[in-house]
Amino acid sequence: MKVIELTPRGYCHGVLNAMAMVKKVVKTPSYPRPIYILGQIVHNQKITDAFKSYGVISLDQKGKTRLELLEQIESGTVIFTAHGISKLVIEKAKEKGLTCLNATCRDVLKVHHAVEDKLKEGYRVIYIGHRNHPEPEAVLDIDPSILFVENEKDAMLLPNDLVNEKIFVTNQTTLSKYDIESVLNIIESKYPNYLFDNEICNATLVRQEAVMNQDMVDLMLVVGDQLSSNSNKLAQVSKKSKSIPSYLISGIEDINLDWLKDIDSVSVTSGASTPTKVTEEVIQFLKQYKNDDPNTWHHQTTLKKQDVL
Ligand code: SF4
Repeated sequence: MKVIELTPRGYCHGVLNAMAMVKKVVKTPSYPRPIYILGQIVHNQKITDAFKSYGVISLDQKGKTRLELLEQIESGTVIFTAHGISKLVIEKAKEKGLTCLNATCRDVLKVHHAVEDKLKEGYRVIYIGHRNHPEPEAVLDIDPSILFVENEKDAMLLPNDLVNEKIFVTNQTTLSKYDIESVLNIIESKYPNYLFDNEICNATLVRQEAVMNQDMVDLMLVVGDQLSSNSNKLAQVSKKSKSIPSYLISGIEDINLDWLKDIDSVSVTSGASTPTKVTEEVIQFLKQYKNDDPNTWHHQTTLKKQDVL
């Protein structure tokens, strides 16, 4: 099989920084135990499982906010994830006497600062993001007046009586231009003088551009977690910009051999929170795969949990 390895792909600086922080805490006995992460340090179950094998407890429950998850911690060290955290949660954790470490990515912090600045300047802030994702959760905690928009329907429901106010629009760092464009068109029709600050981070942008600029292939595989926003977007961008059939897989074990039947070429990329070894295993499998040789079809991982760190 002809395999095109797209670059850049894989870990971004925010993920590397967050993982290094957890590793340091694990290795340093002076950090009080137990070690908790409020959510998943980055959105990848394999990384969460690997840290669990070192005794790190990731508290993550669908529908529960960071503040609610914090209620489950009584002592020890708590690490806040790369997706950002609200000041209220940090204060509450300190009140509990917990040792706090913050792995918020600097690109996410930049959005927090932009929102805070514009609120001080008297703007109404509209934030585009995904519901139930921790990054918007922290941004929306900055001020209750922030208006949240996920899709065109939400944008249509924005109040018309803000037309004479100063409007500032910004967004989650891991969206794609397709998520933003249609929503912005509606915002523009409602508030023609709005100010927009596109905060798709550079890591997300360059990985999406590599997908958009690739030569045509029969199939694209994105290695990443279902929960990972930036990984999901890579598959979305491939379908929308190139009409290439594209699937998000968490690793070699998720490959469906039916996808490979009677095709000649496949491109591979991975999300910013995908372990390099997991992507490498996928690439090596595809390179040796032959349609007519069942001996090349076996696709179970040989990686041990801790190999992915
Ligand atoms: S994807 Fe972007 S915002 Fe998220 S951790 Fe990586 S660099 Fe930071």
